[in-house]
Amino acid sequence: MDAPAFLDRDRPAVPDVVVPGGVTPFYLGGRPVRGRLVRLGRLADVLLTRHENATVVSALGGKALALVAALASALKFQGSFSLQIKGDGPVGMLLADCTDTGGLRFYARTDEKALEALLATNPAPTDRLLTGAGYLALTVDQGPDTDRHQGIVEITGDTLADMAMHYFDTSEQHACKIMLAARKGPEGWRAGALILERIAHGGGVEDGIQDAETRDALDEHEEDSWQTACMLAATLTEDELLDDTLPPATLLHRLFHEESLQLGQPRALAYGCRCSRAKLSDILARFPQDDLDHMAEDGQITMKCEFCNHDFHFGRDEVGTRPT
Ligand SMILES: [Zn+2]
Repeated sequence: MDAPAFLDRDRPAVPDVVVPGGVTPFYLGGRPVRGRLVRLGRLADVLLTRHENATVVSALGGKALALVAALASALKFQGSFSLQIKGDGPVGMLLADCTDTGGLRFYARTDEKALEALLATNPAPTDRLLTGAGYLALTVDQGPDTDRHQGIVEITGDTLADMAMHYFDTSEQHACKIMLAARKGPEGWRAGALILERIAHGGGVEDGIQDAETRDALDEHEEDSWQTACMLAATLTEDELLDDTLPPATLLHRLFHEESLQLGQPRALAYGCRCSRAKLSDILARFPQDDLDHMAEDGQITMKCEFCNHDFHFGRDEVGTRPT
């Protein structure tokens, strides 16, 4: 049940930022390869500067956002794609997700003391040193009427891109080449991703998931095409990936013009937290009265949206009077 509209005030003042063409899908005609180029543009800065994270943590967050933006663009139905990392490193928890319409959000929980200690010995730690040992989960949630699909793997590899490729290798048995970059420049944070997926048959065929047997049966020509595409992708530099002045079509043409590059319909990305006063008051309404009394301080209950880093305040007498 939705809360009455008059309760729906205090929406955090999030910038209404939309990046048209943030995701450019493509495939290589006649080859078992499809991909996405992702550029968050100034949305990266808007999302990452909502939190007072250390630079290295924001960089990890930017890469996580670019990754989920690329993966969510393959969703066939309404829903969201989320990445969760839990480890014993300074960044104990990281969450990034993206809806089918390109709505992005991010949040990381950092142990500042542990991070300080790490940076004292290593000022440029790998993603793996930030997360420590633990697990990485990818979840596809396509609404209440469908099964949630979640895959979990141990954190393996030095970079987030390595960790994600390990995930697809083991959990989905699906070959992927993933390149991620995030950096703070004179115009603020920028983040980008290039992802190649090996698909079952050459050129634009839907659905990349395939079993090992099918994979074995693929002929040498397809293997060669996949390797060539990966080699070409590997020539991409971080500067090119993050350069907003270099149009996605130009960049992809530069990489794959000899491989029958076919561009798909570009998609927008946006600031995508779904929190609202109404939603949070609904959550509070489900708490027992005693718990609500306990949560109240000076007659006020404060709920924080960790994604927006925004506090919502409720009078104790505003909530919890509805029958449960
Ligand atoms: Zn929020």
